[in-house]
Amino acid sequence: MNNVAVLGATGSIGTSALDVITRHPDRLRVSVLAGGRNVDALIALCRQHRPDHAVIADAASFASLRDGLRAAGLKTEAHPGKEAIDTLAGGDACDIVIAAIVGAAGLSSTLAAAKAGKRLLLANKESLVLAGELLMAAARNAGADIIPIDSEHNAIFQCLPSADACAGLRRIVLTASGGPFRGRTRSTLRDITPEQAIAHPKWSMGPKISVDSATLMNKGLEVIEAHHLFGLPGECIDVLVHPQSLVHSLVEFVDGSTLAQLGLPDMRTALAVGLAWPQRIASGVERLDLLEHGRLEFEAPDLATFPCLRLAYEALAAGGTTPALLNALNETAVSAFLQGRIGFLDIPALVEAGLAALPSTPAASLDVLLEADTSARHYAEQAIIQMTANR
Ligand code: NAD
Ligand code: MG
Repeated sequence: MNNVAVLGATGSIGTSALDVITRHPDRLRVSVLAGGRNVDALIALCRQHRPDHAVIADAASFASLRDGLRAAGLKTEAHPGKEAIDTLAGGDACDIVIAAIVGAAGLSSTLAAAKAGKRLLLANKESLVLAGELLMAAARNAGADIIPIDSEHNAIFQCLPSADACAGLRRIVLTASGGPFRGRTRSTLRDITPEQAIAHPKWSMGPKISVDSATLMNKGLEVIEAHHLFGLPGECIDVLVHPQSLVHSLVEFVDGSTLAQLGLPDMRTALAVGLAWPQRIASGVERLDLLEHGRLEFEAPDLATFPCLRLAYEALAAGGTTPALLNALNETAVSAFLQGRIGFLDIPALVEAGLAALPSTPAASLDVLLEADTSARHYAEQAIIQMTANR
């Protein structure tokens, strides 16, 4: 029996993960559930899954969690704050950690799980963008298996399950749906609302990654994620727009072979791979009927309309603290866009201006990376205040 900690349990990936786990009571058990602020949703999940521990990151909500669990007659122990998530992710309460907190907020628990040698199902791509070298080294040193929970990287993992398989690799190709604004010109994107941006044509996801998909920053973050996971330079990581979102990525070898993984766009497949690998277990995802879909189309990404993908490639090439700056500028800009404070096109503009203005230094330590993260958030906040004042 494997004990599973689901961090970010109340979110989109958390919900999909719990759906897969519930299908396999003979092999998987939820032992830890952690959420950000939504106490009622967390208590409802505890009623259903009866974990040993529940954590609410927002410490001010701790009393409601504790009292709610008690009122429900549950033995689940309540904990407040980020440190409790880190301790439980690295402690004896779990063997498998699903890192599904959104944004840089997920880094410390992801690192704790890697350092403790857990099987780490890594959805929190921002932690790889921010501190990829450190995270991969921590996992290597502790013998932690990282299984990517991003459809593209999980596809590549399935095509390249061992380091030996990397010999003779020419390049990998990440597919992209193109997001809700594929085919649009830049001038038509000025007045995009948050509701329009989060209405993804193929995937149902949390608000931040949905906006990232609309700007193509998500694909940019994924290029950096792939660099760390598979040890490839940016030149060997290509992006191909594939509107049907059925081919999740491709791996090309020097002998002319290309391997791909296909399936319906549903994250439960990647989660089932991560939970049982090298075995295969049911995920609840329907089989892919290619006759029903009929067509698989591919086109080049439009970097002029969606500059975020270019900015991410440039950040990867620059190295050092630049990817951490990119991530923090983007997180701050996306959050301001979702709050209606800035426009859609202000997101790439702010990231580009921030990267030009802020110094990049070697990523010598976690502290240096976290300082870069803080300074980029500060820069972005000031820039947003100016943008709103000038409106
Ligand atoms: P979401 O917004 O639906 O859920 C985020 C979860 O994180 C929630 O449970 C929330 O309570 C929790 N959270 C937020 N801030 C927190 C904090 N400071 N401390 C602790 N918990 C906090 O997001 P999502 O779509 O599930 O995405 C989660 C991660 O998975 C992201 O990094 C995203 O890029 C990645 N991912 C998601 C998908 C997808 O299909 N949704 C696909 C690939 C990768
Ligand atoms: Mg993805």
